[in-house]
Amino acid sequence: MTSNITTMMGVKSLKDIDVTGKRVLIRVDFNVPVDSHNNISDDRRIRAALPTINYCIDHNACSITLVSHFGRPKGKYDEKYSLKHIIKRLERLLQKRVEFIEDFVNSRDEIATCSLERVFLLENIRFQDGEKQNDPELSKRLASICDIYVNDAFGTSHRKHASTYGITEFVDTKVAGFLMIREIEAFSKALEDPVRPIALVVGGAKISSKITLLKEVLRKIDKLIIGGAMSNTFLEALGYDMQNSLYEKEYIKTARDVIDQAKQNGVKIYLPVDLVITDSIETPVDIKVVPAQDVLEGFQAVDIGPATVKLFSEAIGLSNTIIWNGPMGIYEMPRFSKGTFKIANAIADCYAYTIVGGGDTADAVDKTGEADNFSFISTGGGASLELLEGKILPGFTNLDRKEGDL
Ligand code: ADP
Ligand code: MG
Repeated sequence: MTSNITTMMGVKSLKDIDVTGKRVLIRVDFNVPVDSHNNISDDRRIRAALPTINYCIDHNACSITLVSHFGRPKGKYDEKYSLKHIIKRLERLLQKRVEFIEDFVNSRDEIATCSLERVFLLENIRFQDGEKQNDPELSKRLASICDIYVNDAFGTSHRKHASTYGITEFVDTKVAGFLMIREIEAFSKALEDPVRPIALVVGGAKISSKITLLKEVLRKIDKLIIGGAMSNTFLEALGYDMQNSLYEKEYIKTARDVIDQAKQNGVKIYLPVDLVITDSIETPVDIKVVPAQDVLEGFQAVDIGPATVKLFSEAIGLSNTIIWNGPMGIYEMPRFSKGTFKIANAIADCYAYTIVGGGDTADAVDKTGEADNFSFISTGGGASLELLEGKILPGFTNLDRKEGDL
C-alpha cells in the first residue's frame, strides 16, 4: 500500500523545472513569532525558505513574488500583522533588495509585466478575506502574476487556502519548493524506513488533536512516551485522580483504546511515574513532586518529575529513531520547564535520528540551545501532526508529479 508520505514525495520540485526568464510566485511561510515591539524572536522559517528563493535568483527567474500570511488578521488590514515588519530581516538574509507590495491588486500589472530580475513581497495575504475561503477570484488574481507556482509553505500545507491550494487550478506549472521536500524526506526517514527501535515522544496541550493520531502511529512505532497535559488524560484513564490538572474527559475512552491497542501491537507505553504539582500556575504558594497516583486535592500537574525524566531518558537512549511532539510541562515558566528541557537534552544526546514537530516543542528545543543537535526540526506544527495522522497534505495534492508516477 502506498503511504501518504510516498504519495507526497512523488511531486515535482523546483529542480525538475527551468525557471529562467519566468515569473515565479513562491508561497512561503513567513509566519514568524514576534515580541511586543515587533522584533522577530525566531527567524527559522524565513531562513528555511532561502534555498528556494536563492535558487530562483541564481537561475535567473525574471521576477520572484513571495506570498505569505502572518498572524491571524480577520480578513482585513491590521498594522500589527503587516509583513513590513519582516522585510528588513528578509533583505539582510537574502542580501538583496525586496520590493514591498502593499496593494497587490493595484500593482498587479507592474508585477505581471516585470522584465527585470526583481523580488517582490506581497502584503499579508490573509488581509484578503478570500484567502482562507479559498476564493477562486483571489486564486486567479494570484495566478495572473506568474508563470510558475512554487509551494514552499510547509507550515500551511495542511490548509486549503487560495494561495496554498486554490491557485494550483489556474497555473500550468506548479511544483514544491526545497523546504517542502526536505520536510517530507525527514518524516519519511523517521516513519517509512526507520532504524528501530522507534520512539514517539508526545506531550503538550492539544490533547484532542493529538490523541487520535496516536492510534494511527501505533502501527509504526515501538515505544510511546507520553508527558505534558496529554499524559494527564492517560493517568485519569488508569483511574488516578488528576484533580485540577488539565485533561480532557471526553478522551478518556480514546486513551484506554490507545493503551489496549498498544498492547496488541507490542508497543511499550511510558507514562509519568511522578509529577510536579502546584496549587496555582500564576501565583504558586506550594510546589511539590509527588508520585503520579498522589496529586493532592486542589493541585494540578504542570511538569514531569525527576523519576520520570530518568525513566523517559533511559527509554529514549535505547531508541534509534525518535519523533518528538509536545512539551512535557508548562515549559514557558522557568519553574515548570525542567522536565521539558531535560528531555530535550536526552534526545539531543542520543545517537539516533531525531525529529521535532510542533511549534512549542521547536521553541523549547531552541531555548535549550540544542537545536543543532537534532537531526531535523520541522517548521510545521499542525502540518506535521496531519502528516503523522497519515493524511496527504492539500499543499501537495495538486502539484505536478514526476513522470511515471501515479
Ligand atoms: P506543540 O506546539 O509543540 O505541538 P502544544 O501546542 O500541543 O505543543 O502544547 C504546548 C503547550 O502545552 C505549552 O503552552 C505548555 O505550556 C502546555 N502544557 C504542557 N504540559 C502542560 C500541563 N501539564 N498543564 C498545562 N499545560 C501544559
Ligand atoms: Mg502549540
